[in-house]
Amino acid sequence: MERIFNFNAGPATLPLAVLEEAQSELLNFKGTGMSVMENSHRSKEYQAINSETEALVKELLSVPENYRVLFLQGGGSTQFAAVPMNLVSSDSHADYILTGAWAEKAYKEASKFAKTNVAASTKEENYTRIPRTDEIKLSKDPAYVHLCSNNTIFGTQWQAFPDLGDVPLVGDMSSDIMSRRFDVSKFALIYAGTQKNLGPAGVTVVIIRKDLLDSIPTNIPTMLRYDIHSKNDSLYNTPPCFSVYMVNLVLRWLKNNGGLVAAEKRNAEKAALIYDAIDYSEGFYRGHAVKDSRSLMNITFRLPSEELESKFAVESIQHGMIGLKGHRSVGGLRASVYNAMSIEGCMALVDFMKVFQSKNG
Ligand SMILES: *Cc1c(COP(=O)(O)O)cnc(C)c1O
Repeated sequence: MERIFNFNAGPATLPLAVLEEAQSELLNFKGTGMSVMENSHRSKEYQAINSETEALVKELLSVPENYRVLFLQGGGSTQFAAVPMNLVSSDSHADYILTGAWAEKAYKEASKFAKTNVAASTKEENYTRIPRTDEIKLSKDPAYVHLCSNNTIFGTQWQAFPDLGDVPLVGDMSSDIMSRRFDVSKFALIYAGTQKNLGPAGVTVVIIRKDLLDSIPTNIPTMLRYDIHSKNDSLYNTPPCFSVYMVNLVLRWLKNNGGLVAAEKRNAEKAALIYDAIDYSEGFYRGHAVKDSRSLMNITFRLPSEELESKFAVESIQHGMIGLKGHRSVGGLRASVYNAMSIEGCMALVDFMKVFQSKNG
């Protein structure tokens, strides 16, 4: 059985070594005579996975001491509601920077529970770029400013995070967490569903500054309260044990392959291969994102006609590549090249792009 090059946006490709390790431990995890799926979340084996995974997140991202790492359920979408419920009080409000479909969803959801304000938006330019710092207009004293670090659908990414003074910054990093280094201390809270860069679906990583845990309202659903999950070490109720275990294996794989320094380098090289193929195609391929806002994770591009785009999507599958059809709101093609996508996969795509252009250009 051949493995395919999987360019899906999420759930996404996982490292082969990780899948093989999970396979080898599936029937009998570390002498327990059962899989992680079947074990109690109160067992010492699972407790070890839970605490080691938290330690790995902290180590790989150099998370400062005054932060907590939580493993929650409900995906990034549940965080769209949890963040305002936990952090905005009745007499305050939150600011949102709109850079794409997910940021918009986060803003709309928050607006159900809190007063909100749009601090910047590039919607009028069809989200082809990230706003400049001087375009961000904060309201007076917001409880936080929310941004989406990588726009999975439009293929743009913050190259550097804006300096917004003392205002707490909240980041949705669902599609680029662990793809590069950044200063965690710039953020009050970070959240990320794991199914793009960290493992399978089913768990959401939340990194929260500890002082925020002291003023969580008690009248919101218990399952959404960060302080409850923190007090219980993410074991308040039954966690998605197998997903957390898979995240653990992915993080160990990342660490064994040089951590984020090496991941960042690999990701830059991979994306450059594909962007070069776009830029040197003499206009046959056109990138959606403005150059200085380009994502290293999701590469969005158009072809001269929708007919050619469909043809590209179909023929790429015949060449062992899946998931290249773009999101319906942008059209065209999208190559998602998360940490686990190999350089070989990117080279195969570039070869195919060249052949396709020579036949159809
Ligand atoms: C995929 C994604 C989400 C939604 O994640 P779910 O786990 O499906 O709720 C949110 N934000 C970003 C940036 C995403 O890429």
